[in-house]
Amino acid sequence: MRVAFDMLTPATLQDALDMLEKDGENITPVAGGTNLIVDCQSGRHEPKTVMNVHYLPELSQIEQKGDMIQIGGGVTLRAIEQSALMKEKSNALYRAAIQFANPLIRNRATVGGNLCDASPASDTAIPLLALGAEVELTSSSASRWVALDKFFVHVRKTARNSDELLTAVRWPVPVSGSANTFYKLGLRKADAISVVSLAVYVALDSDGLICEARIALGSVAPTPLRAYDAETLLKGKKPSEALYEEAGKAAMQACTPISDVRATAAYRREMVDVLVKRLLRETVKQISG
Ligand SMILES: Cc1cc2nc3c(=O)[nH]c(=O)nc-3n(C[C@H](O)[C@H](O)[C@H](O)COP(=O)(O)OP(=O)(O)OC[C@H]3O[C@@H](n4cnc5c(N)ncnc54)[C@H](O)[C@@H]3O)c2cc1C
Repeated sequence: MRVAFDMLTPATLQDALDMLEKDGENITPVAGGTNLIVDCQSGRHEPKTVMNVHYLPELSQIEQKGDMIQIGGGVTLRAIEQSALMKEKSNALYRAAIQFANPLIRNRATVGGNLCDASPASDTAIPLLALGAEVELTSSSASRWVALDKFFVHVRKTARNSDELLTAVRWPVPVSGSANTFYKLGLRKADAISVVSLAVYVALDSDGLICEARIALGSVAPTPLRAYDAETLLKGKKPSEALYEEAGKAAMQACTPISDVRATAAYRREMVDVLVKRLLRETVKQISG
């Protein structure tokens, strides 16, 4: 299907925000276009005006600021894959990036586009939830930080207002004595939409007890989600197979999966149980050396 729309090309972030302030309701930002253009071609989306934010230099930084890591909303999956900081300090996101789609898509697809598309299968949302991330939403007059688990409202619905851009994502530098990882279960090794995806962050205290645990799940509910009950029951406990077993069962309870062409709801639930146990075991082993 041929699609036609007006195209705005702001040169700076401020230009882009001013355009959104004037007519945000009728302007659709586009970054890599790997969701938006596909949606236009399928007729799911019919934007009147599209605003290109892909080349805004203000959105492309990857940096550590004190005890926080911050990346711009326009950072591509390829840039994450190539970043030593991501590989060293945010392994879960790095692992999601290297498995994301294929090299062509990774060159264009951005983190901001992936989060704003708000798919339950979003491959950056899951590691970022486990890392405890928040997103920066900026309008021409103000900027606010929103915890990522509050950003996702429903399938393809977020807390972003039409005059705002997602300008950055930040999360705490993982503490020493912690580890984080990501696992994507798909029907093939590359270019797959996840059947279930999972990220885990665990920190142990000096007595070897779990002092922080975050478990994030994808493709098992209308939005990417945290398994809060499973996290709570892990805290203050000594890691053990029995504890992982309990956490796996609690994480299953957090899910409300659907059956679709990729898997049944029952299979997705079962995989959450299996993978939560596996990733907890792996992260604790990684910390303990
Ligand atoms: C072949 C193929 C394979 C794919 N594989 C995967 C995969 O493995 N995992 C996965 O998670 N996804 C996958 N996707 C989906 C897509 O590539 C990702 O969601 C990608 O990250 C979207 O980023 P983008 O920059 O292309 O977004 P765009 O298509 O440009 O935009 C997506 C949405 O976000 C909005 N938006 C973009 N940037 C901003 C911003 N800074 N502020 C506010 N709103 C913004 C747009 O208005 C639009 O609504 C795949 C897509 C294709 C076509």
